[in-house]
Amino acid sequence: MASNQYLTLNSGHKMPIIGLGTWQAPDTEVEAAIDVALEAGYRHIDTAPLYLNEKAIGRALKRWLDSGKVKREELFIVTKLPTAANRARDVEATLKKSLADLQLDYVDIYLIHSPVTAVANEDGGVKYDADGLMVPDLEADITTTWTAMEKLVPSGLAKSIGVSNFDQDQLERVLKVAKIPPATNQIEHHVYLQQRDLVNFCKANGIVITAYSPLGSKGLNKLNASAGINRELPDLFDIPEVKEIAAAHGKTPAQVLLRWIVENGIVIIPKSTNPERVKQNLNVFDFKLTAEEIAKLSTLDQNFRVCDWSLLRGVERHPEYHF
Ligand code: NAP
Repeated sequence: MASNQYLTLNSGHKMPIIGLGTWQAPDTEVEAAIDVALEAGYRHIDTAPLYLNEKAIGRALKRWLDSGKVKREELFIVTKLPTAANRARDVEATLKKSLADLQLDYVDIYLIHSPVTAVANEDGGVKYDADGLMVPDLEADITTTWTAMEKLVPSGLAKSIGVSNFDQDQLERVLKVAKIPPATNQIEHHVYLQQRDLVNFCKANGIVITAYSPLGSKGLNKLNASAGINRELPDLFDIPEVKEIAAAHGKTPAQVLLRWIVENGIVIIPKSTNPERVKQNLNVFDFKLTAEEIAKLSTLDQNFRVCDWSLLRGVERHPEYHF
């Protein structure tokens, strides 16, 4: 059912409108979650080296592909170029490492994870200075990185390419040099952070929006606390208007939050490793919000960013940081 719902990218490839998010889904949970998701009908999986789970995801995908229960061309696998490798010379080797971990020959889309670049340490991770702050790489440039990304398409390593966390100015700079325009911009998008101007700019330029943290990323509270970041995050499931609309449709607040995004022609990648919630999040294609309900949810915008990347201490010192 849900796997039949696609948006067509400017590359001509079809992207399932719902994917499974996997940030904060550790190896111990993610393999089983992929099983539940594929069984339920998900065909799109979103990951990144930063999530430290590509190997476990690769094991699950291999089992499914080897069993013949799913064909490679039915899957849509997304991964990303990490901040510490966000420079032209590292693009191909970094994707090849992800492909080895995922046990795949190609990804369906490869994204620049963020416009920010960090200097890499010896093991390829982000280099931190004596104060524990990320060392910004001021030589890397998003347009030259993009030109290297474009080579992945003819070489067959990525069917499509895109970006994440780019603002309009950064997209305009990329579009100016692009022979292949970004197919998607993956950004935080939910009722409390609607980013309407950026969404409209992307739509006007044929760039599909992928909404990350579509449910408000509740799990981030725990991660922030473990890093000593005390920041109160809103609970989107508790918004009276969301609860009211959910009750009217016999759906959960999560399903209403997801449905509102889908009805705006935006891809959703909710994360869950809980079997019931994985299935619940997919079950958003059997009801429609009324025009009034859509309008009501659209008035909730608070310009509240949940994922401000503050976990990457010192990120704000990079000139491309715009949150
Ligand atoms: P999210 O999908 O908005 O929320 C995930 C949280 O909500 C988890 O704590 C999950 O817990 C819970 N949850 C999921 N479904 C639920 C339901 N039906 N009812 C109640 N709780 C539910 O947050 P996210 O993980 O930040 O974003 C989604 C994905 O986007 C990520 O996993 C990642 O793939 C991607 N992302 C990308 C970037 C980027 O910079 N490009 C940044 C952030 C996220 P359980 O697992 O226990 O269900």
